[in-house]
Amino acid sequence: MLKIENLNVEINGKKILNDFNIDIKEGEIHALMGVNGAGKSTLVKAISGHYDTNITSGTITYNGKEITEKSADDRANEGIFLSFQSPVEVPGVNNSYFLKTAVNAKKAYNKEDELDSMEFMKLLKEKLKKYNLDNSLLKRGLNEGFSGGEKKKNELLQLLLLNPNLIMLDEIDSGLDVDAIKSVAEVINGMLREDAKKSILMITHYDRLMELIKPDFVHILKDGKIVKTGDYSLALELDEKGFAELGLNHEKV
Ligand code: ADP
Ligand code: MG
Repeated sequence: MLKIENLNVEINGKKILNDFNIDIKEGEIHALMGVNGAGKSTLVKAISGHYDTNITSGTITYNGKEITEKSADDRANEGIFLSFQSPVEVPGVNNSYFLKTAVNAKKAYNKEDELDSMEFMKLLKEKLKKYNLDNSLLKRGLNEGFSGGEKKKNELLQLLLLNPNLIMLDEIDSGLDVDAIKSVAEVINGMLREDAKKSILMITHYDRLMELIKPDFVHILKDGKIVKTGDYSLALELDEKGFAELGLNHEKV
């Protein structure tokens, strides 16, 4: 589903990803770990076409098509989703209106009929009910004054409504309590049960999320490159020993 070859990415003129390679097949769950500043967020931003990132060379291929030069909205409409580590607040943009606009933009791109307000509310209610989410965030401005946990919950709601094929989660579990982490895992696992072809790339520091969403592969990013790949047991080893003991922290500080 996703193939990245020799990707070099800069942020503000500083090289962050260095000849980065990864291959994610349909239905696979990949976890990406690494010390703070290793370039994890930069990678998922570069995949989603975020304006912060400047790809200087290399290619990103998604579903057999090269998307390296595509706009962020085209990539999203093609089924790539990123749940942000720090979602931005957009005061004055009603959350429910924002969600409906996003869903309809994707439908229009894929030449499907757009949803009217009634149909959208029906879809929304169905998802809220199925995953036991409340609707108190819908009437407010997008992420405006939301707590950390509420922002993550709203990212999940976007995920459910947009129903992407490649789901990238950037520290969706950070700052969440145990119950909230469980509800994240329920949403992800529920989506995978409905469509086993979806692939996941999740960035996390904690074992708890991976206990609930078991990765097929665990990669360690260091200085802009994957330096180690293993299965779930690698995450357990890291949890026990830490990056420094395994020599996976930065060499230069
Ligand atoms: P991680 O997610 O692994 O903690 P990031 O990808 O966020 O790491 O950051 C990698 C490096 O890029 C860090 O040194 C960080 O300070 C730098 N960086 C990230 N975003 C910006 C930005 N907007 N401007 C300047 N430097 C940035
Ligand atoms: Mg990060």
